[in-house]
Amino acid sequence: MPQPARSHKANKVVERMQKKLNRQLVGSLVACVHCGMCTESCHYVLANPDDPTYAPAYKADQIRKIFKRNFDWTGKVFPWWVKAKDIRSDEDLEKLKDIVFGKCTNCRRCSLNCPMGVDFATLNRMARGLLVSVGVMPEGVAAVSKDQWEIGNQMGVLPQDYLETIEWLSDELENEFNDPAARIPIDKMDAEVVYAINPREVKYDPRTISDAARIFYLAGENWTMPSEGWDMTNFGLFSGDDELGAAVAQRVYEKVIELRGKRLVLSECGHGYRSTRCEGPNWSGNGVPFVMESSVLTMLRYIKEGRIQVDKTKNKELVTFHDSCNNARSCGFYEEPRELLNLVAPAFQEMYPNRAENYCCTGGGGAMSMSEYTPLRLKSGKIKADQLKATGAKVVVTSCHNCVDGLTDLIRHYKLGLKVTQLVNLVATAMVIPEKVVLPVEALLPVEALSLKGFKILVVDDEPDILTFLSTVLEDQGATVIQASDGEEALALTLKEKPDLVTLDLSMPGKNGGYVFEEIRKNPEIAATKVCIITGKPELRRLIYERPVAPPEGYLDKPVNEETLLINLRKILEVKHPEGHA
Ligand code: SF4
Ligand code: SF4
Repeated sequence: MPQPARSHKANKVVERMQKKLNRQLVGSLVACVHCGMCTESCHYVLANPDDPTYAPAYKADQIRKIFKRNFDWTGKVFPWWVKAKDIRSDEDLEKLKDIVFGKCTNCRRCSLNCPMGVDFATLNRMARGLLVSVGVMPEGVAAVSKDQWEIGNQMGVLPQDYLETIEWLSDELENEFNDPAARIPIDKMDAEVVYAINPREVKYDPRTISDAARIFYLAGENWTMPSEGWDMTNFGLFSGDDELGAAVAQRVYEKVIELRGKRLVLSECGHGYRSTRCEGPNWSGNGVPFVMESSVLTMLRYIKEGRIQVDKTKNKELVTFHDSCNNARSCGFYEEPRELLNLVAPAFQEMYPNRAENYCCTGGGGAMSMSEYTPLRLKSGKIKADQLKATGAKVVVTSCHNCVDGLTDLIRHYKLGLKVTQLVNLVATAMVIPEKVVLPVEALLPVEALSLKGFKILVVDDEPDILTFLSTVLEDQGATVIQASDGEEALALTLKEKPDLVTLDLSMPGKNGGYVFEEIRKNPEIAATKVCIITGKPELRRLIYERPVAPPEGYLDKPVNEETLLINLRKILEVKHPEGHA
């Protein structure tokens, strides 16, 4: 029987599918042996056990049959044999839309459990992208994509609203610390850290921004937030639109480059982290000339380096941790959040299963923006609700804004009575606020107020240029500087001169800096000497902090500029402002 002609949209979908096919996608399209091992992995199946249409393999087959009918020779010749079937009408496209957007959150749990390596979530994302390209998508997906294309962020936050929010958060911070330097810098050039966030934080959860700002401030970080390109989330990941993905990621990268930022720190958001750090460079086709990291790693580093002090007993309640699918399954990022959590929370109860096997919060894949599927989403969240309940925890912590919303919805629906929070909130609560806070912005204070006069500093480095540079900067600030160019000399001078502070290189001929540091700490006569490691070997950091002695007061990576050096050394030496600032 002759087939009806394809609709214009269906035609485009098939044409574009051909362009999308690559080795990874074709592998997933042909490798399924219908063993069913992935079936029980899916939270939609667990909530709808009598309906086979929720099985990942069945859902994949709805995409696979189009591929087979059009691009696979067996499907072209024997379509009935391999269950190949073309997509013909706009109604067919609508049915496919309800599967790829409504019955899957792209959580990748089934992908992980397939012995044949079928990655259904990647197929599903491709199908979403094809439908989006012909305008077939849930209304919410269209609205959010439009905002991200046109306004520059996926919640349509206008530039003046963003800047006003930062302004009032800065005012609050300044009041809290009674310090004009305690503000959120915008578009500061040459900062060590450029901090990008999820627009949800501006719109619904500004506390996460102010908590992060408090942490950066107390860590003495040279940081900034960008006035544009600040949205690190990327709806291109959910909608399957690689063009949108590339444009959004590129916007963030270009701003960091314009500001000459050294490190892009991404606030806690699973899909934002995956999009910006892992997928973005591929979508945009450009290299990224700076480091990118999750704020979880930044906070962990600050604690380990002693840049902030925390008292975990300030967080009282039993907490559990929910792994975001994008962080854990797609980026392998699950141990660091736990390490940080254990440093700031006294009682932690693991949820089972966890890490890569954790169940989706059901808000993933952009599901929170597709209200037509909300009842199904909540029903499919039963397994997550049971997981949460079984922990007995009062608080669920997650490093993802999407998960915050997904979990909050489930907790309300299943009446679980838990609170949802993020690591940034726990860290900020646990922080020990020094009585006096170092002013990190030199320009706001008279120079003489921050003088290093009266301090004796031993500068240790085997490179003559660095020795001269560090000594000159410190002498210009009034410090008395003594120099050593190897480990033996450094130890001898520390004993003889009893300096207030030693800046210590690690890689040196003879006794290396790590050995010298440990010897200083072990000798009761000089153990209390303040030490700031200044090294070109950041990879040695762990070896220093894991030594069985008190950690160094500071750790700086080379090359170090004058501003960073002074901010950190003043903080270590607790240089006081004459009017009461510290
Ligand atoms: S586990 Fe893999 S091979 Fe088995 S049905 Fe699922 S996708 Fe197909
Ligand atoms: S990706 Fe997740 S939601 Fe989608 S079919 Fe697989 S297990 Fe189910």
